[in-house]
Amino acid sequence: MSLIIQKYGGTSVGSVARIHAVAEQIAKLADEGHRVAVVVSAMGDTTDRLVELAHEVCPEPDPREMDALLATGEMVSTALLAMALRRLGRPARSYNAMQLPIATTAQAGRARIVRVEAESLQNDLRTGIVPIVTGFQGCAANGDLTTIGRGGSDTTAVALAVALVADECQILSDVAGVYTTDPRMVPEAKRLPRISYEEMLELAGQGSRVLHLRCVEFAARYGMKLRVLSSFEAGPGTLICQEDRKVEAPVVSGIAFNRDEASITVGGLPHKPGMAYAMLKPISEAAIDVDMIVVNTPDTDHADFSFTVHRNDYSKAIELTRVAAHAFPGAAVTGNDRVAKLAVVGSGMRSQPGVATTLFETLAKEAINVRLVSTSEIKISVLVAEKDLERAVRALHQAYGLERKPSP
Ligand code: ADP
Ligand code: ASP
Ligand code: MG
Repeated sequence: MSLIIQKYGGTSVGSVARIHAVAEQIAKLADEGHRVAVVVSAMGDTTDRLVELAHEVCPEPDPREMDALLATGEMVSTALLAMALRRLGRPARSYNAMQLPIATTAQAGRARIVRVEAESLQNDLRTGIVPIVTGFQGCAANGDLTTIGRGGSDTTAVALAVALVADECQILSDVAGVYTTDPRMVPEAKRLPRISYEEMLELAGQGSRVLHLRCVEFAARYGMKLRVLSSFEAGPGTLICQEDRKVEAPVVSGIAFNRDEASITVGGLPHKPGMAYAMLKPISEAAIDVDMIVVNTPDTDHADFSFTVHRNDYSKAIELTRVAAHAFPGAAVTGNDRVAKLAVVGSGMRSQPGVATTLFETLAKEAINVRLVSTSEIKISVLVAEKDLERAVRALHQAYGLERKPSP
């Protein structure tokens, strides 16, 4: 009898009919002899609507109150799902993060899980009750409700799976697994039967929102088997696990992209030590995450320093950079908030040359300019104009032969 943690995303519990459908799936799994604990997201686009509501009341809502508000979404769906299961005659009990508790750090909106108190869940599982837990929220040491970042219910599920020493953590969504790229953009994308933690980390880190990045980090650290499945149709999904060493690693496994980028460039800085630090210190002090960083040296005396941030942080970041650049006469700050990033990921890239050449050749044929490039051992990311993103992803998907083969 295995212990399975299932997480249902917003679309999966987006209506009363969906809540009943999910309750039936859970009951079926339990009938098959599995012990099941469940994590749920807020229904449909509830969290987005709550964010909008907060901004109608106040342009810059207090972060603590924002967390108190956003955490309500998951409390609704857990209680409703528990009711639906009970209606099927299946004992179930809902829990929010304070009731367990799920202890987190105190940073509102970006708290990190530090401990999951699993005792109530263990008692329920022992006595045949299905526990249903709120995703995305936690509880700080001072008793405040926190949230762990948008899309964070995936991470809650893995944290619970680790705490309960589950056999598998299943993320049920509106796609049948992890695809070679977002199937909404490229319908020819194909489902991957399995993918390594390492590759999934890169895909999630580069913007593929099918899994929350920290959920993959957590699963990789504890060797927790993760499976992405559809809650709408049966199927094997995608298993995220250690790399299969019996077969050659795929050169390119998938393409991720992220439209929420903005770039800032400081040209004409003096080329001397400490210049990058001077530019980035105010950005990190403002708790703004920096993604790509590139330094160009057009001549021995000068350097151009470029970096990217989330589009929501653009105005603040460019303002701080302008202030920092004042210290360097002749330096000029420019920015662009209509850029997007795409990344080609594959662990076979380490041993196979030519991946970058194919990328640049394909983008050249499409007359798409590359604005910034960054690489890791198993990834090449490029920044392009937002208007070129879709064309670039489609062309690269084809160039690397990732499309589904037409059925014979
Ligand atoms: P949930 O609400 O269930 O958490 P999300 O919307 O967060 O679901 O994630 C599922 C979505 O991720 C899919 O609808 C799909 O558009 C998107 N997606 C992006 N990249 C991929 C990929 N490589 N494979 C599958 N889905 C992807
Ligand atoms: N409801 C939260 C969000 O929309 C968390 C999640 O869905 O994972 O971001
Ligand atoms: Mg999600």
